[in-house]
Amino acid sequence: DAYLNAIDSSNEALNAYVAITHDKARDMARASDERLSAGEGGALEGIPLGIKDLFATEGVHTQAASHILDGFKPRYESTVTANLWADGAVLLGKLNMDEFAMGSSNETSYYGPVTNPWRAKDDDKALVAGGSSGGSAAAVSGFLCAAATATDTGGSIRQPAAFTGTVGMKPTYGRCSRWGTVAFASSLDQAGSITRDVRDAAIMLKSMASVDLKDTTSVDLPVPDYEAALGQSIKGMRIGVPKEYRVEGMSDEIEALWQKGLEWLKAAGAEIVDISLPHTKYALPAYYIVAPAEASSNLARYDGVRYGLRVPGKDITDMYEQTRAKGFGMEVKRRILIGTYVLSAGYYDAYYVQAQKVRTLIKKDFDDAFHAGVDAILTPATPSAAFGIADEELAADPVKMYLNDVFTVTVNMAGLPAISIPAGLDSKGLPLGLQLIGRPFEEETLFRASYVIE
Ligand code: GLN
Repeated sequence: DAYLNAIDSSNEALNAYVAITHDKARDMARASDERLSAGEGGALEGIPLGIKDLFATEGVHTQAASHILDGFKPRYESTVTANLWADGAVLLGKLNMDEFAMGSSNETSYYGPVTNPWRAKDDDKALVAGGSSGGSAAAVSGFLCAAATATDTGGSIRQPAAFTGTVGMKPTYGRCSRWGTVAFASSLDQAGSITRDVRDAAIMLKSMASVDLKDTTSVDLPVPDYEAALGQSIKGMRIGVPKEYRVEGMSDEIEALWQKGLEWLKAAGAEIVDISLPHTKYALPAYYIVAPAEASSNLARYDGVRYGLRVPGKDITDMYEQTRAKGFGMEVKRRILIGTYVLSAGYYDAYYVQAQKVRTLIKKDFDDAFHAGVDAILTPATPSAAFGIADEELAADPVKMYLNDVFTVTVNMAGLPAISIPAGLDSKGLPLGLQLIGRPFEEETLFRASYVIE
């Protein structure tokens, strides 16, 4: 009730939830109470969660914040949310996001932007909560849920977490099943969480992760007790500092924060080593070929027949066209056009195949660093703190918006786990985050090290 009341009083200002499931939440909570009084109960018994609108929730609003999925209520549950409910968690509602998870500011949502609960010290301007999981970040930061699910294709968990002073955990590709998560770019998409601290992130991942026959890319590996890793010594842990992440124009504040993070880890016994990830500069351009290519193919299914919106036309082809023209927003259309272009016969080798080769090189850079003995890599999470809603410069140039992902996309291209941890405030009093990147399926190392920073 406390969370539902908080949502009812603050959601108008934050726009974090796109659907609030009052009745279902109370039913689930009552069932939790009964299990607890019977001496039963799972790891998340009675914990109220917000769920990103990208996860299919049976009988409940699931629209990926798009007009084209108007009225869609799936008849099935995503594996990740099913795992959470099996552990006793309670659904408060569905969280706002960029349309189909395409964006870095939650401004491409059909439901409008999310407002960051944080404001700068001397300026009352509304700020973005980041994207695409802006609703998840704002809801956790603004105490409108205990924790939230989120997804990360190129930074969508870690960047909004950094913008809102929360912890964003993106597990290794394959750690969580993608089944029932609306697909954006299937080879990059990964579910994870946004939480108020590292312990909550450890608890959430334990519950969300599982091998799943319905997603052949999910991995059959034991899921460790991540919470047990917290507080374990990091003595002798080797932390890599990639020189290529010292990008041109990086602010002194971000640079200073990065140094501070390294000092904290060193003081706790870690060894700091300089490393090189030489193909870093190609990650962003390669990502913005691979992700739209996969998106253009995944989004072909929205035809006005099978799901959501249908705009009548004079014949079936016209109906498809009208539906897609009215149903998709600008950014989604831009991605479909780019994706279709780079996959077309004449350009496939020049763009798509080339980008896949670059992707292999990016992955090899990380492999080389890990083979040389590096356990985790520390970088800033974002190139800046949260920016203003409707920033004119960013609105005029989508490529500038894409630059937000400069520190995060490499991780998705290589399929690695990474966590963004709140590490300090800038001179305006806004939160800044640091990112730790780990070896595949070694999320425990990230929890251990980020617990020191937190
Ligand atoms: N900002 C990136 C994009 O727009 C990443 C989005 C994401 O991780 N879902 O594609």
